[in-house]
Amino acid sequence: MNLKITVLSGDGIGPEVVAQAIRVLNAVGRKFNHTFEFDHALLGGCAIDATGMALPPETTAKCQAADAVLLGAVGGPKWSDPRAKVRPEQGLLGLRKALGLFANLRPVKVYDALIDASTLKAEIVRGVDMLIVRELTGGAYFGQPQGRSGEAPHRQAVDTTPYSEAEIARLMHMAFELARARRRKVSSVDKANVLATSRLWREVAHEVAAQYPDVQIEDVLVDACSMYLIRSPKSYDVIATENLFGDILSDEAAMLAGSMGMLPSASLGEQLNQHGYRRGLYEPIHGSAPDIAGKGIANPLATILSSAMMLRWSFGLEVEANSIERAVEQVLNDGLRCKDIASQGTRVIGSEEMGAAVVERL
Ligand code: NAD
Repeated sequence: MNLKITVLSGDGIGPEVVAQAIRVLNAVGRKFNHTFEFDHALLGGCAIDATGMALPPETTAKCQAADAVLLGAVGGPKWSDPRAKVRPEQGLLGLRKALGLFANLRPVKVYDALIDASTLKAEIVRGVDMLIVRELTGGAYFGQPQGRSGEAPHRQAVDTTPYSEAEIARLMHMAFELARARRRKVSSVDKANVLATSRLWREVAHEVAAQYPDVQIEDVLVDACSMYLIRSPKSYDVIATENLFGDILSDEAAMLAGSMGMLPSASLGEQLNQHGYRRGLYEPIHGSAPDIAGKGIANPLATILSSAMMLRWSFGLEVEANSIERAVEQVLNDGLRCKDIASQGTRVIGSEEMGAAVVERL
């Protein structure tokens, strides 16, 4: 297979972790006889420095021509002046829009070897393996009207949370399809006891569920879900929810695994690539970590695991994806750690060594 990937290394530790993911992908290519074509482009702070734009048109064009996009992270203190007209995050939002990415997927898997890294008790987190599917383009983050008016003491602000049937249905279809390849359970999260959008969400979720009789659906109120996530997280397989709830719950769920340096993500839309799979954007959930950038100590495993998700969902290469995930698990079982996940009795290594260790086990 020839896999055409646009690489957006971005800022801070982005280039350091992406370099290790590319190294692992090249090793997969050698092992399974695939050719990777990596095309690099600018996004975020580095793009602002070079072109004055967070998302130069050339970057959008390259991403639209690729089968999938691999991203490091964007942002940093250099570009964080709130008065600045152009900000790195605008590049990310613009790219999601240009690629029509409406679902953000975050798997949360707790590795046995890292159970101590979680702040929760071992018996609660052992065996956790869930996938959060968050709607990415609708709801309160984009609804109009949005804004504020008036002067103190009469200031007011408003946000609007619109959702259409079509937006809910496409997200739920994706959640059910993904559940079919897992433990066949979808937990649809809403606030149907209070919000009109949530009542529509629940109605449409069940209409979609009727088309997947082999998958179980349960409704969970968002407040209860936030509680169950730390009380009985093992009970979840796929969690499907709207934009704002998903933003909050996915960060809460991330902490079950202990470190941001371990968690991958994917954003998928309806556009298909030349291989007939969804063209996706794959990135670690962490940011550009300016505090450790350039030190060679960033944990590249989240980005390496993001590249495994890319092989699975944008290329249908399940065996190859599994082999990366197994190699990562072996590295952890062998007691190798980057600084962020280090514990007593483990050996602390840098980003490059970690990349090499994964390649070796592949
Ligand atoms: P961050 O995720 O960059 O860092 C939070 C903490 O986690 C830091 O102490 C950092 O050193 C550590 N950390 C993160 N990733 C790590 C890794 N791979 N290995 C080891 N340690 C790691 O979050 P932040 O500090 O709030 O944000 C820094 C910048 O990143 C900001 O400009 C923010 O806007 C941006 N950001 C970008 C994205 C993105 O590109 N998708 C996401 C979140 C934040």
